[in-house]
Amino acid sequence: DSQLTVQELANKLDKNSSEIIMKLMKMGTMATINQEISFEIASLVASEYGFELVIAEGDNSEELEIETLMEIEEDKEEDLKQRPPVVTVMGHVDHGKTSLLDAIRKTDVTSGEAGGITQHIGASEVNINGQKIVFLDTPGHEAFTSMRARGAQVTDIAILVVAADDGIMPQTVEAINHSKAAGVPLIVAINKIDKPSANPDKVKQELADQGLLVEDWGGEVIAVPVSAKKKEGIDTLLEMVLLVAEMEELRANPDKRAVGTVIEAELDKGRGPVATVLVQGGTLRVGDPIVAGLAFGKVRAMINSKGKRVKVAGPSTAVEILGLSEVPQGGDQFVSVPNDKIARNVAEKRQQIARDEMLKSNQRMSLDDFFSQM
Ligand code: GDP
Ligand code: MG
Repeated sequence: DSQLTVQELANKLDKNSSEIIMKLMKMGTMATINQEISFEIASLVASEYGFELVIAEGDNSEELEIETLMEIEEDKEEDLKQRPPVVTVMGHVDHGKTSLLDAIRKTDVTSGEAGGITQHIGASEVNINGQKIVFLDTPGHEAFTSMRARGAQVTDIAILVVAADDGIMPQTVEAINHSKAAGVPLIVAINKIDKPSANPDKVKQELADQGLLVEDWGGEVIAVPVSAKKKEGIDTLLEMVLLVAEMEELRANPDKRAVGTVIEAELDKGRGPVATVLVQGGTLRVGDPIVAGLAFGKVRAMINSKGKRVKVAGPSTAVEILGLSEVPQGGDQFVSVPNDKIARNVAEKRQQIARDEMLKSNQRMSLDDFFSQM
């Protein structure tokens, strides 16, 4: 079994060995600087720094090599290109999230062209004056909680839907807090303005009470009155999304192995494990070996949000991918690796760690059960 010393691990991670020893202690492992630690433990430490430990291929297979799979290293300034914004719609139940997404999709003429039926892949794309915006279908709430719980950040901009006849409700406040915690800029869509009982000023007052002062009240929060039902104000809302995106200077390096996040995944009877992934950096290609959470495989096919098969997917593209060994979880990171062997290796190591962790927590639980009965 491959092992390396604390010092060697520290060197590979470019960290102080005392820092590594502290990390190990927090994980319940006492180790001295020259002590050998297992691949699993070393992997856990490395993952805290955003690195993946990989057994190098080739002549010296005993040697542990670190591959920077997790995209922690900064891209070079000159490699960064502008990328489209990824948007999540949030808000209280029945305030019109689904209706708004529907209205937005219909704004995109291209989606109406090919028969009009957009395949559901968990995300959609619209083109406004030649500029792309990606919308995640996952209810914003989930997109934030489950994804963020797993350390994934997929949203660039959040649209907060507030029904003008109902105002700020508990889930609205929650949504505001989520976007604040994530540091994601928020655009308010004051929806249902077609209703006679609509009171946009009341919404603005309640937003102010939440610390969100809208522009026409001297603040900086963009609020757009819309009617998802009558399809009014949608163009303005999308223009605001592009404006905010421009200010955010969203960029990514398209010229490297792809990295991103699993948006959702399921087991399809005919097609096997199917995952919708958001490419966040690099370019994903059919045939690429990838690791996604505990799953691995070679990308057999990619389907875009228009239901079309595609061969490449660059930054800020959501695609459904086929070819994984199992179903990953929403929020899992995916990464394209140099070859199949590494993909399998990394996934199997992760599975082993997951099994060990489960075993440990089961043991812990049964001990707790034991003590609780005393
Ligand atoms: P969600 O729970 O936030 O996804 O809300 P839905 O999109 O399902 O909408 C809830 C209800 O409000 C539905 O009956 C919609 O038809 C209605 N609704 C949504 N947007 C509007 C709007 O702009 N005007 C009016 N009058 N009704 C709307
Ligand atoms: Mg809905």
